[in-house]
Amino acid sequence: METLKQALEKIETPLRFSAGNDFRNLALVRDLEEPLRKKITALRDMLPEKVTDAGQAARMAMKLTALEAAVSGFDGASPEERKRRIAEGLSCVEALREVLSGTGEADAVSFPQGVPREALASLEAAMEKLARPAQFVKGVGPKIGMLLARKGLKTVEDLLLFMPRKYEDRRVIKPIARAESGRKETVVGTVVRAEIHPYQKRKVFEAVIRDDTAALKAKWFKGSFAYLRNLFKPGCRVILTGELRMYRFQPEMIHPDFEILEEGEESHLHFKRIVPIYSETEGIGQKHLRRILLHAVEDYARYMPGPIPRDICDRQGLIDIIEAVRAVHFPGPDEDMSRLNAMRSDGHRRLIFDELFYFELAMALKHAGNVLDEGIAFRTGGELTDRFLSILPFRLTAAQRRVIAEIHGDMARPSPMHRLLQGDVGSGKTVVSMAAMLTACDNGYQAALMAPTEILAEQHHRNVGRWAESLGLRAALLVGGMRGPEKREIARQIEAGEVHIVVGTHALIQEGVEFRKLGLAVVDEQHRFGVVQRATLRAKGMNPDVLVMTATPIPRTLAMTVYGDLDISVIDEMPPGKKPVRTKVFYERERPRVYEIIRKEIAKGNQVFIVYPLVTESEALDLKDATRMAEHLQRDVFPDLRVGLIHGRMKGPEKEQIMQAFNGRGLDILVATTVIEVGIDIPQASLMVIEHAERFGLAQLHQLRGRVGRSDIPSYCILMTGSRGSDVARRRLAVMEQTHDGFRIAEADLEIRGPGEMMGTRQSGLPDFRVADILRDGRLLGDAREEAFRLVRKDPRLQKPEHALLRAVLLWRWESRLDLARTG
Ligand code: ADP
Ligand code: MG
Repeated sequence: METLKQALEKIETPLRFSAGNDFRNLALVRDLEEPLRKKITALRDMLPEKVTDAGQAARMAMKLTALEAAVSGFDGASPEERKRRIAEGLSCVEALREVLSGTGEADAVSFPQGVPREALASLEAAMEKLARPAQFVKGVGPKIGMLLARKGLKTVEDLLLFMPRKYEDRRVIKPIARAESGRKETVVGTVVRAEIHPYQKRKVFEAVIRDDTAALKAKWFKGSFAYLRNLFKPGCRVILTGELRMYRFQPEMIHPDFEILEEGEESHLHFKRIVPIYSETEGIGQKHLRRILLHAVEDYARYMPGPIPRDICDRQGLIDIIEAVRAVHFPGPDEDMSRLNAMRSDGHRRLIFDELFYFELAMALKHAGNVLDEGIAFRTGGELTDRFLSILPFRLTAAQRRVIAEIHGDMARPSPMHRLLQGDVGSGKTVVSMAAMLTACDNGYQAALMAPTEILAEQHHRNVGRWAESLGLRAALLVGGMRGPEKREIARQIEAGEVHIVVGTHALIQEGVEFRKLGLAVVDEQHRFGVVQRATLRAKGMNPDVLVMTATPIPRTLAMTVYGDLDISVIDEMPPGKKPVRTKVFYERERPRVYEIIRKEIAKGNQVFIVYPLVTESEALDLKDATRMAEHLQRDVFPDLRVGLIHGRMKGPEKEQIMQAFNGRGLDILVATTVIEVGIDIPQASLMVIEHAERFGLAQLHQLRGRVGRSDIPSYCILMTGSRGSDVARRRLAVMEQTHDGFRIAEADLEIRGPGEMMGTRQSGLPDFRVADILRDGRLLGDAREEAFRLVRKDPRLQKPEHALLRAVLLWRWESRLDLARTG
């Protein structure tokens, strides 16, 4: 009898051949679709008998559906499209093979014993239906299917979760004669005439619509007139929605929403109800989309799985998921328009909660995975830590004490710590991390502190090294810029355990340094998120506690997504005596005044930073080049002062030299690119001038400003900007003038720029939600997180029979998007 492997090979062979010779073989391939379909069906038919694990079977069924989708319509597709399909097909085959061999993921999908077979089987069947290509939906042919796919609507489920952009109230259709001026009205009538008229120097498209009671004029001043004229043929029936106004005693609507009604179509679907409006896809009109969605909802909504436990639904007031899918696409007559349009109807809430819940469930499982992992149970309250705190020339703030207690609590537990420490620039994170590192040392372990840049690593080393020395410990610096022999010697000492604390860049872990006994890794990420992966540590056979520090306050909602699996500590209090940095926006024409202020500061014995966005001149962007500006300032503006320059292209030692010169007051002004953004500490610097401030994000501006005001000298920040700045840029700068609170700045940043841009979409760890919007749905996100974590506390591996369906749906939804393999 044929094995699954053999059946899979039969599918793979023609695909491989087509891809062969750099896809040139494709030209030789005829009629691929039918034979492949048969082989896919054959393989699918083998599943029930050969695969005993329900989860595995479900996953294979899904992949087969994806494979089928890749193949469907293949023979008629363009050469480019065929190439793409082949590649997609091959990746499906690859995935199938992985499921088959159970590599790595096997335990993630093994189902607990005692789960009713029928329940899983019917879930499986439902998922198979939802995973079908959108083309399965009535009214969607190959061409429309392609258009939908281009919009990201590939499967039936994608369609069901394609939320209307807004809703229109067409419950009441007014006779034109009764429509009221100044109100949004919906009317239906016949086109009497439609033509283009001259209007001042431009043109206007006018259509006259008449019903039994009166006539109304619809006008368009822009848009494609040819397109409109083609639609508004005299005699055809149209529906118009828009604000009615009177013009020369005639009712009219400017740029109304409209739909042309076809013969016999004046049904329930497009009016006499609340109507969904979707974001349009080229080539598919509103009515067509609506019809497609109607079929999708009628035929498939019932397969939407809703295994979120009853008690959670009750607590959160969630309606049934199938009801929810129906209600968002075709709201009932009693729905509240404003709630619908705010995406706050009961249907929306359920779907949004669902999406967020599964995501947070994944986070909770990852988190629980860490908790279940074996780690080091440190003894806390050791002698080194105590002595360190007693030699500090200041008292810890209450926030620092609280956060140290949280960290020590984690360290004492026998599972590895996985904590994010948030605290604004200058809030005293370094001290906190030192307390943690010393606890590791107290227990005979080594600690590592990793910074994003060499400058910062060097600076950390200066502080940490001094502290370590006074406690009788050895701290060493290890960065890329060091000479080979020196580096090797330090690596040797680390391996031999002669060094207790190692300070380096993020590359430290990757670069093949062997620790004798690493107990704690502190990762200072500043604002670069998610660089160091715990996996790297694990891969090296270490399972130390990990403390990630960030100086960029992250709004709670974002922290819950991007750092969803971490525990979070926040230092929300600044050490006493810090004066806020007075901040003001200056325009280009006020430059002479800015130079005067610079002079004054230096006359007081203080130092000044001037920051530019880029290193090299880019004419297109009209940016000043830091290098040229440094020269210009030295030669033409401040010939009597000492101007230095530092930028990212310089070598480590060169940068170090300049920083030392500035720190030792050998320079008055330091012209810099954003390399100084990260944690540089120059107490005598009292003025930060940021050129082209409009080009920086808020988080960056906040970081830069944090470089001054680090002692009790009154400090200032000048944000220079051209007068042309966009509205958004101006709003950003205004926020900087108004507040110093990093969290408020971060919230504002999130609001102004949105999550994607704020975090940088790539590698940011931001999931791409389909229905939810973390900006809008912050509250629901918090609720979903609480419920998900509560559930996982009760069932840390999601193994209880009553959670089997939940687990299956979770894997289905998120497995490919999050690395859940290890949660099993
Ligand atoms: P961060 O790393 O959070 O930007 P640092 O740890 O570098 O902040 O601390 C900033 C400055 O404040 C340092 O000079 C540090 O010695 C000082 N500092 C830290 N904690 C306190 C405190 N509780 N009281 C007074 N000064 C403090
Ligand atoms: Mg710091």
